[in-house]
Amino acid sequence: MAKMRAMQVPGPNKPFELVEKDIPVPQSGTVRVKIQACGVCHSDSFTKEGTFPGLKFPRVPGHEIAGVIDALGPNVVGWKVGQRVGIGWHGGHCGYCPSCRKGDFTTCSNIQVPGISYDGGYAEYMVAPVDALAIIPDELSAVEAGPLMCAGITTYNALRNSGAIAGDIVVIHGIGGLGHLGIQYAAKMGFHTIAIARGKDKEALAKKLGAHQYMDSEAVNVPDELQKLGGAKVILDTVTNSKSMSSIVNGLSINGKHILVGITQEPMQVSTLFLVAGRRSVLGWPSGTAMDSQDAMSFSALTGVKSMNQVFPLEKAAEAYDLMMSGKARFRVVLETGL
Ligand SMILES: [Zn+2]
Ligand SMILES: [Zn+2]
Repeated sequence: MAKMRAMQVPGPNKPFELVEKDIPVPQSGTVRVKIQACGVCHSDSFTKEGTFPGLKFPRVPGHEIAGVIDALGPNVVGWKVGQRVGIGWHGGHCGYCPSCRKGDFTTCSNIQVPGISYDGGYAEYMVAPVDALAIIPDELSAVEAGPLMCAGITTYNALRNSGAIAGDIVVIHGIGGLGHLGIQYAAKMGFHTIAIARGKDKEALAKKLGAHQYMDSEAVNVPDELQKLGGAKVILDTVTNSKSMSSIVNGLSINGKHILVGITQEPMQVSTLFLVAGRRSVLGWPSGTAMDSQDAMSFSALTGVKSMNQVFPLEKAAEAYDLMMSGKARFRVVLETGL
């Protein structure tokens, strides 16, 4: 049987190991994908550290996958060998839980995640259910498409469902892997885009990415400055520090929404008076379906939104992962298989 290379995690907090495995055979309702690129996401730490409930080892991480359909399993309709596809966090849904029965597949109680529920993208081949597949537009390379399957879709889908309309003030808090995409999407969607981060040095980049304004949260009182402009209709919060999230919530306008996409276990604080009096809300947003990912890629190709990537060969996954975890990556880290 033909073999492939994969970078797998042998157990919780164990170092990555480069292994040779059999090329997987697609079962009913699944396809095999020849992987060309896979983004390295902070959520891969669920696999690396073994913190995701029910996770089994060894496991190949990775849910920002871009490649080509290489073989079809039985009972696959509507997909062809040779199609370029991406696979993101939404790696399949059950179809029978209450969310699925309402058509809300993103919140499926039995959601499958590549790299957690089954082997993911740190490899040359993988098998995935067809409901996980998003078509990659011709304009995007595999390296460009990969990070859009998680970082891209999450910010894009949160913004397009935020209720903000053209000209509304939309704040992007944090200029990292998610934020640098959020700024581009917000500007291209026609929002009055304000980027907020710590320090003066991020201003030039924020403006280059399309921000109309930049606020240095160390130099100004952000809520006061936002209220002088009438308040933010939406704050898209990409930071992972609850204190930092709490410090800007008072910049919301009447009916404003503080949408969280950065994840932390620490609670955030907000005045209930402030929320109630102005009908304001704080909510979370969990990426979306494969079709949402496809929309995110199409919009990116149409408008020129691009992730800034540092690219490593597959076998350097450990180095790539450490760089991502250090928070020093500029801005997404992507593995390439060379296939
Ligand atoms: Zn992710
Ligand atoms: Zn379900």
